[in-house]
Amino acid sequence: MSNLKAIHVASIRAQNLSQALNLIWQQGAISRAAIVRQTEMSATTVSAIANELLNSGFVSESGTGQSSGGRPPILLTFNYNFRHVIGVDMGATHITAVAMNLQGTVTARRSTKFDVVSDPDGAIHTIHALIEDVSSRANLSADDILGLGVTIPSPLTGHHLDQLTTIYMPKWEHVNLIATLRRHLPYPVYIDNDANAGAIAEKWWGQGRNHNHLAYIKLGVGVGSGLILNNEIYRGSGGTAGEIGHTTINLNGPTCRCGNQGCMEAYVGVNAVIDQVVQRKLAAIPTWQPEKPLVIDDIITLAQAGDPICRSIIRSTGAYLGIAIANLINLFNPQLIILGGDLTAAADLLLDAVHLSVEERTMFKAAREATITTSELGEDAVAIGGATLVIQHTFAPAHLFSTLAGNPQKLQ
Ligand SMILES: [Zn+2]
Repeated sequence: MSNLKAIHVASIRAQNLSQALNLIWQQGAISRAAIVRQTEMSATTVSAIANELLNSGFVSESGTGQSSGGRPPILLTFNYNFRHVIGVDMGATHITAVAMNLQGTVTARRSTKFDVVSDPDGAIHTIHALIEDVSSRANLSADDILGLGVTIPSPLTGHHLDQLTTIYMPKWEHVNLIATLRRHLPYPVYIDNDANAGAIAEKWWGQGRNHNHLAYIKLGVGVGSGLILNNEIYRGSGGTAGEIGHTTINLNGPTCRCGNQGCMEAYVGVNAVIDQVVQRKLAAIPTWQPEKPLVIDDIITLAQAGDPICRSIIRSTGAYLGIAIANLINLFNPQLIILGGDLTAAADLLLDAVHLSVEERTMFKAAREATITTSELGEDAVAIGGATLVIQHTFAPAHLFSTLAGNPQKLQ
């Protein structure tokens, strides 16, 4: 066989394997005959592929399905606990790690506050420590782990979209996070922006499962969005699509950390919210001084307890956020917008103000019908999205051979 022909045959086999494995993964248990019916593969091909998947350990034979006359068929069952994936959410001020099985169930988690922006070496050290910790809590050896997906609080650039944009993280300028992690870990490592990972998590395991067009908005120190359009993450031409926090909402507004004036983030970012509360408190009582520096959780607790200044700031935050969401709805017409991140603990207060603001600014009925809600995946949504990157890559045709051979390809 010529080289080209061999490559062609291998590529078709990889496509078929990937399609069958994804089908068994989605349905949990399925007969060979049903795979033949639901794909364009022949019974002979499906039979050969089934043997290969059974040998891999991802799939086993168990139970019997509905008979259509003769002997009930034996089902191919996906082993969701055969391997685990690790997700790490590296935020500006925290690092969270999860171990997850192949059904999206988190089997161990650890989270710690950390000043990621100013201490890259410490952050990388902490990532390794948390990975070890969740692996041991979930009883996983390196061989049980398919890979790591790590998320960062900044857009990614570069030819492979694996370089950090260091505009908000200048100390990371000479740190190659992905290469450093790959050097020290025995399994593949993938990377994405935090809001993209949140969107992927919602699409795979959350409220986005039945939606083709959705946005996930991460409300933290930074404010970014992950856009899923036609079931695919939308990255734009250079990987920076979705930077909703840096859309201008006031020509002469306060200066944002990106250097521009009047960005949305300068109103609804966690630090902006804290600053506004401090200023309003000082305006009301010039001698006001909190016992310790205010953090966002304090402001949310105070707002929920009825503190008028904190309530009013959360409401105005919702109103500003509503402007950005209305813009997003007018531009992309998503079916679903999911809010995640620190501010969502104030969901009741926040969502009312967001809805009011959006209703005033969206023009079309279809646009107004977009559902705006908070994430049900909770504070681990981004880490779960990171872990999901590994499944997404592993089950794609390009990587499947090495995965099935029990030798995940180490990307360099
Ligand atoms: Zn900005």
